Amino acid sequence: MTRPILWWVRRDMRLRDNDILTRAAETGHPVIPVFIRDGIVDVTGAAPKWRWGLGLQAFEQTLRARGSRLILRSGEPLSVLRNLIATTGADAVHWHRLYDPDSITRDVAVKAGLKDDGCIAESHAGHILFEPWTVPTKTGGFYKVYTPMWRTVQYRDVPVPCSVPGLRSPEVWPESELFDDWALGAAMRRGAGVVEPYTCVGEDAALDRLDRFLEENIGRYQNKRDYPGVGAGSRLSENLTYGEISSRRLWHGGKRAAEQGLPGTETFIKQIVWREFAYHLMYHQPGLASEPFRQEWANFPWRSDNADADAWRRGMTGCDIVDAAMRELYVTGTMHNRCRMLVGSYLTKHLLSHWRIGLNWFADTLIDWDPAANAMGWQWIAGCGPDASPYFRIFNPDTQAEKFDGEAIYRDLYLRCGEDDLGRTPATDFYEAIPRSWNMSAQDARPTPLVDLKEGRARALAVYSTARN
Ligand SMILES: Cc1cc2nc3c(=O)[nH]c(=O)nc-3n(C[C@H](O)[C@H](O)[C@H](O)COP(=O)(O)OP(=O)(O)OC[C@H]3O[C@@H](n4cnc5c(N)ncnc54)[C@H](O)[C@@H]3O)c2cc1C
Repeated sequence: MTRPILWWVRRDMRLRDNDILTRAAETGHPVIPVFIRDGIVDVTGAAPKWRWGLGLQAFEQTLRARGSRLILRSGEPLSVLRNLIATTGADAVHWHRLYDPDSITRDVAVKAGLKDDGCIAESHAGHILFEPWTVPTKTGGFYKVYTPMWRTVQYRDVPVPCSVPGLRSPEVWPESELFDDWALGAAMRRGAGVVEPYTCVGEDAALDRLDRFLEENIGRYQNKRDYPGVGAGSRLSENLTYGEISSRRLWHGGKRAAEQGLPGTETFIKQIVWREFAYHLMYHQPGLASEPFRQEWANFPWRSDNADADAWRRGMTGCDIVDAAMRELYVTGTMHNRCRMLVGSYLTKHLLSHWRIGLNWFADTLIDWDPAANAMGWQWIAGCGPDASPYFRIFNPDTQAEKFDGEAIYRDLYLRCGEDDLGRTPATDFYEAIPRSWNMSAQDARPTPLVDLKEGRARALAVYSTARN
């Protein structure tokens, strides 16, 4: 009998464009998909952990519909895998590579341990387009500026996504823990019911989302993607981060649209390469989420956590576009890209608060939380990252709001009242989602601004100038 292989499922909850399954189908091996709730899953923030759980449930159903299963186990991965190998007779473990430092440390140890046991342990590409060591600069380093990296990869071949291969089941399934016992959504409390209608979970839903985007939105993506009230983005970050869809599929979707002559396709593909850029940076500079990328920022006098930052988290700064965006985050678990930049600039420059406060808050509240994109985004906006927006370029949130939300569609939706296209009322739903301890109600008056925008800008520039000298 052909021995089964274990597929260690992590951020790759899909059947299509899955090199592990394609190979297993070719060799005829039965596949046992296993998800391990380990320390990395446990320390994931409230919203992304909850969303990961929704993805797992959907994926389990997808597998069941094909006669397969998802085995759930918790514990330290090497001992869990060893136990499964002993009980199933599997002789190989396969997984898709991840590139954040914690995952790398874990995976290296697991691979070494399994190999010591004489077991096949193989990692595969699939989470990103290009492996980080395959895009060197001319001098052999890695790209610290986006545009030259884009020029290097833009015409490269990317494997075409393959369809769902046949899945062979083992003769006997190992035991699985129960999903409900894991309580992955426990830290979401009241928020789960509010955020859930905004989620789009699972592989089929992600593929539909991409198709809809390519049919309806890509043509206006270039001109409208910066307008938070319009919603011209793909919203696929939520699915990409859990691997419910592959970035290869987005790349090829964009390329096909380009062949049809649709405008804006290059802008879209460039965004996917921004994700790539973030992963390459994190791989080569593992401290991206904790230390300033540029050492000269190590002693910048950022304020540590403070009452202003708390007001920022609660959407109570008195600056409308910032507060609307912070509430969008709390109600939907996502935030429009332009608003991520605006709230980031406001926190790190107008409030002079540390970028890690923002990074940590996003890591706790974003359902599309991605370790690399989040870290790069925060360092970029704070000015201490690679290819960063210079510190002296300080967004004026009011001017930005006038430019990109001129009719206040977005601000009204999250701050005042009104229904979105699907009849939801995010401005009032916000009060259903927040912790009761925040003691806020829909009847509260809008706060006076924490800081005058001109004064805040001048203060930030003064601190920057002193720090630089
Ligand atoms: C401070 C800050 C924090 C961020 N944190 C995250 C995060 O945790 N997770 C995350 O996925 N993105 C993050 N981003 C990047 C970006 O805001 C989101 O990827 C984007 O808003 C997702 O919307 P979309 O799927 O409609 O993107 P689209 O505009 O449709 O773009 C397609 C895909 O390209 C990628 N992409 C787009 N813009 C960027 C970017 N600037 N950096 C990296 N990848 C990009 C995403 O995977 C996205 O799904 C952050 C940006 C900033 C400024």
